[in-house]
Amino acid sequence: MKTGTFTVPTDLLTRIKAAQNILCISHVNADGDAYGSVLGMVWMLRSLGKRATAAMPDPVLPDFGFLPGAGEIVGPDDTADDYDLIICLDMSSADRMGAVYDEPRFGAIPLVVIDHHITNTNFGVANWVEPRCAATAQMLVVLSGPLGIEVDTRLAQCLLTGIVTDTLCFRTSNTTPEVLEAAMCMQRAGADLSDIVRQTLNRMPFSTLHLWSRVLADAHLDQGVTWVTVSQAQLRQAGHEGDDSRLNSILSSINEADMSAIFTEKLGANGSPAVECSFRAKPGFNVGELAFQLGGGGHAPASGCTIAGTLDDVVGSVVPMLVAERRRQLAHTGATPQH
Ligand code: 5GP
Ligand code: MN
Repeated sequence: MKTGTFTVPTDLLTRIKAAQNILCISHVNADGDAYGSVLGMVWMLRSLGKRATAAMPDPVLPDFGFLPGAGEIVGPDDTADDYDLIICLDMSSADRMGAVYDEPRFGAIPLVVIDHHITNTNFGVANWVEPRCAATAQMLVVLSGPLGIEVDTRLAQCLLTGIVTDTLCFRTSNTTPEVLEAAMCMQRAGADLSDIVRQTLNRMPFSTLHLWSRVLADAHLDQGVTWVTVSQAQLRQAGHEGDDSRLNSILSSINEADMSAIFTEKLGANGSPAVECSFRAKPGFNVGELAFQLGGGGHAPASGCTIAGTLDDVVGSVVPMLVAERRRQLAHTGATPQH
C-alpha cells in the first residue's frame, strides 16, 4: 500500500519500538474509531512480541463486543502501574482519557499521542496528529508499514471498523483515495466489510427508534441551523442510554440547514446539570473551532463539547453562537448555503 502521503514521526516510532509493556487508552463516550484504534494498537504491539493492554474510561458498549479483544478492555480500576509507555488514541486532549489516566501512578510514564483531530493539543512527549486522515484507525494502517507488521484478520477487523464508523461508511467529505486504499488493504487482510457495517451502522434497538420519535417531534430550524434536545426524562422513558451519532446523520442531511446540533442533558459529577453538545457542519462550514472555544474539540464537519448548565441555558446561549458562526462563515470564508 502507498503510505508515502503520511509520515510517521521518528520519535514516536522509536518510543514504540523500544517499549515492552504498553498501555493503550482511548476516549470517554467511545465510538467505533476509539474501539477500533485502541484494539488495533494492542494487536499490532502484541504481534511485535510486546505486552499491551487496552483501557477505556467507560464500560465497553455491547455493540462493539464483536471486535476481537473487546472482552479484554479494562476500566480505570484494572490498570497496572508498571507500563513503560502510554499510547493515547483518537483523543484531542488529555481530559478525554477520563478516569483511566491516574496521574499519581502514570505521571512519570512517557505518553504519546496518535490522533486525527485538528484541535489536538499535542499533550504527549511525542505527538502524531494527522487531520488529513479520516480515522485514527487509518493512521494505524499507515503505522503498520514502518513497524513491519503483517496485518492479520483480527487487526484488520479492528482497523476497518474505525475507518467505516468515522466515515459513516465512506460517505463523509474526508473520504479520500488514501482512506479507500487503507480500507481495501484491511479487506484484503481479512476484514469483513459487510459484517462491520451490519454490526455498527445498520443496527439499533427499538428504544432508539422510540427516543428519536420523541426527540425529532420537537426539532428546530432557524437561519440555517437545525437542532434537537434530548432530556434525561426522554432517555429514561425510552429506556435508552443515548447514542447521537446516527441521529446526527439525520440532522446533517436536512436541506435547509448548514449546521446541526444535538443537546443532551447530562448529570455532572457533583449532580449539577450539564449538557453534551454534538455539532455537525456541511462541507464548506466549520463547527470545530466553536467546539474548541467552548472547551471541547473535534473536526471542521463534526465536533462536540460539554457545558455546565441546564438544557434551556445551554441551548439559549449556544444556538445563537451557531447562527452567528454560520453567518460569519457565509460572509468571510466563501462558504455557500447547501440548499
Ligand atoms: P460526536 O458528536 O460524534 O460525539 O463527536 C464528534 C467529534 O467531536 C468527535 O471527533 C469527537 O471526538 C469530538 N468531540 C465530541 N465531544 C467532545 C468533547 O467534549 N471534547 C473534545 N475534545 N472533543 C469532542
Ligand atoms: Mn476518530
